[in-house]
Amino acid sequence: MNHKELPEVNIGILGGTGLYQIDGLRQAREISLETPFGQPSDSYIVGELEGVTVAFLSRHGRGHRYMPSEVNYRANFFGFKLLGVKRVISVNSVGSLKEEIKPRDIVLADQFVDRTRRFNTFFGQGLVAHISLAHPVCPVLSKHIYDLAKELGLSVHPAGTYVCIEGPAFSTIAESKVYRQFGADVIGMTAATEARLAREAEMCYVTMNLVTDYDVWKSQEETVTVELVLANLQANISNAKNIIKKTLASINRLEAEACDCQEGLKNTIITAPQARDPQTVKNLWPLIGKYL
Ligand SMILES: [Zn+2]
Repeated sequence: MNHKELPEVNIGILGGTGLYQIDGLRQAREISLETPFGQPSDSYIVGELEGVTVAFLSRHGRGHRYMPSEVNYRANFFGFKLLGVKRVISVNSVGSLKEEIKPRDIVLADQFVDRTRRFNTFFGQGLVAHISLAHPVCPVLSKHIYDLAKELGLSVHPAGTYVCIEGPAFSTIAESKVYRQFGADVIGMTAATEARLAREAEMCYVTMNLVTDYDVWKSQEETVTVELVLANLQANISNAKNIIKKTLASINRLEAEACDCQEGLKNTIITAPQARDPQTVKNLWPLIGKYL
C-alpha cells in the first residue's frame, strides 16, 4: 500500500496475552504494512472507537504465534509511525514481585530494568542516536489512565518498576528473589523493548501491566492453579478494555497537556552528516526526516 493512502490514526493499541482484538471498532479494516525492519506481528486493525481513530495490533499475532523474543518490535512501532500514531497504549500481562501488588491489580510501570538481549533500537547501520530514557513512559498519558482506572473502581498502582526478561521461560526462584531485592514491582517479557522504541519513534507510551499471579518467589508457597491464572487473565482483559474505552472517550483532554515524548529524537542524532549511511537515512526517514 502506498503510504499516502493510509488513514490518519491517533492512537495505537498493543494487545498482549489474552487481548487479540478490540470489540466495537466501527468501520474496521485491516491494513498490512511492510517496513524496513520487516513485517509487523499482524495486520493493523484500524477503526473508530469512542470517536477516535485507533490502530489495534496483536503483539504476539492473532492466535499467539510469536514468543516475546520473536516479536518484531521494530516493525510494530515503525508501522504505527507510518499510520501517524502519536500515542501507544500497551497492554502487558505481568507477574507480581510484591505482596501488596495482587493478582488482578493494574500497575502503570514508569521504570524498567531491561534484561533482554534483543534488537531494541531503530538506529545502527551508519546512523547513531542516543535518546534519553530516564523517564521511559509518558507521564501525562499514564496519569490520565490512572485517574480513569480509579474512577472505574479498579485496584491500580500509579507507578512501578518492571523487570523485562527475555523469556520464554519464567524465572527461577533465585532470579525472582534477586529482582525483589532490586526493589522491582512486576516482571514481564515485552514492555521495556517497546518503551525504548516508542521513545525513538517519538510516541507517548504507556504500559498497563495486568497482574495475573505472583511470580515464582511466592507462588511456590501457594497453590496456583491454571484455572485461577486464566480467570485472572480474563478479568484483567475485561478491565483493560474498559479503561481503553474510557481513555479514548476523553483523549482530547490530553492535547493541552505538555510532555516531551513527541520530541524524543531532538538533538540525539550524533553521526556527522557526511558520515551517515544514505540507505539507513532513507529507511528511517519517517522517524528522522523532520530533523534533517
Ligand atoms: Zn507523552
